[in-house]
Amino acid sequence: MFSKIVIANRGEIALRILRACQTLGVKTVAVHSTIDRNQKHVGMADESVCIGPPSSLESYLDIPKIIAAAEVTDAEAIHPGYGFLAENAEFAECIAESGFKFIGPRAETIRLMGDKVAAIEAMKAAGVPCVPGSDGPLNDDPERNLAIAKKIGYPIIVKAAAGGGGRGMRVVHTEAALNNAIITTKTEAKAAFGDDTVYMEKYLENPRHIEIQVLSDMHGHAIHLGERDCSMQRRHQKVVEEAPAPGLTEEERAAIGEVCVEACKRIRYEGAGTFEFLYDSGHFYFIEMNTRIQVEHPVTELITGVDLIKQQLLIASGEHLQIQQSDIQLTGHAIECRVNAEDPKTFMPSPGTIDIFHAPGGPGVRVDSHAYDGYPVPPNYDSMIGKIITHGEDRITAIRRMRLALAETVVSGIKTNIPLQQKIMTDRGFVAGGKNIHYLEKRLKEDN
Ligand code: ADP
Repeated sequence: MFSKIVIANRGEIALRILRACQTLGVKTVAVHSTIDRNQKHVGMADESVCIGPPSSLESYLDIPKIIAAAEVTDAEAIHPGYGFLAENAEFAECIAESGFKFIGPRAETIRLMGDKVAAIEAMKAAGVPCVPGSDGPLNDDPERNLAIAKKIGYPIIVKAAAGGGGRGMRVVHTEAALNNAIITTKTEAKAAFGDDTVYMEKYLENPRHIEIQVLSDMHGHAIHLGERDCSMQRRHQKVVEEAPAPGLTEEERAAIGEVCVEACKRIRYEGAGTFEFLYDSGHFYFIEMNTRIQVEHPVTELITGVDLIKQQLLIASGEHLQIQQSDIQLTGHAIECRVNAEDPKTFMPSPGTIDIFHAPGGPGVRVDSHAYDGYPVPPNYDSMIGKIITHGEDRITAIRRMRLALAETVVSGIKTNIPLQQKIMTDRGFVAGGKNIHYLEKRLKEDN
């Protein structure tokens, strides 16, 4: 195991990584921007290095500064968390070239999965079911594009190959709208991701978002840890996640899990990863793979008892994965509510100082948050201030525990989306379970 690592992130995930390191006896180096010097994990880390001003470009996204921090502190490895540089192949490469270990898959894998067109091609070759689509990038030939769309059948969705974070997608319902939509998506993709490659997929009208968590070591052993249902979304961004997915059968889980495990072996995947699927009428359709730890990883941890960050560290240090597929038994049900510093109605970010922060507790309640009394939520980063995760022997117990946990939580001084989460937890459709990716937005519209 490593003796010391750099945590190249901030907020709740930096704290989560620090906690895993401390239980493993691994020393930690926190890197932070000037505005983040009072972050909880910075205070708890063995060492800390200020890497620049609040702007992410000059701090958390500045590769040489992070590598320099590893150099001066004599660290051995770098954990990227999620967001920032977590899926940046160049970062992984620079780390390796500088003699450190990137805690995540090989740069080559990150590059492959970062290009959604290439990722889909690789997955198809590995036998993973994909959404019917253009089988490659679209070019500037309007006739060809019309022919592809006709073959797939409308509605279709035009997506940026380099897209992420729910951006760079456009749904097209008619032939007349197709070529303009392609041009607009290309322009947007170029501006947002520096790459104007776009492709086309069948737009599934009422799917659920179900994803499979995997762990795979560098010696060819891989397992899956079941699925998460992340269908409660707003603007293609997850709001509530749960595990297992309501209604999914044991056989369906085993079958899709096995497909993902085989794909991991085939691409020689290393570390924790997630295969994201749309699930419609009993069929799975691969949309992308996330080559990092995800925000929603705790729901899987609660139903499997596996510490995913600890496993990431063990795998990166070269150990053999000690867990067999038969060891993975799902126990009960877990739900995660993301708590964001934002207006619950307009969704506008609400940075500012939290006067009082009181976290909930009790049986089956987990809080992953870096907030505290007097914590200033900076305007510079993601608005998530933490996550509340509940676990129960069944889904309704997890929901009831979540209702109680949300009611117990106090965050004063700023606005949060807790009122929205409370509405979701008592919403009849959500409580029934198994709703599709459009459900939340539809309900929000009805309320307005
Ligand atoms: P990102 O990398 O930006 O998260 P994804 O490809 O994972 O993009 O898609 C994010 C969300 O967009 C999905 O969870 C789903 O809600 C929607 N989406 C993506 N592809 C399709 C599709 N083919 N049909 C319907 N919805 C889609």
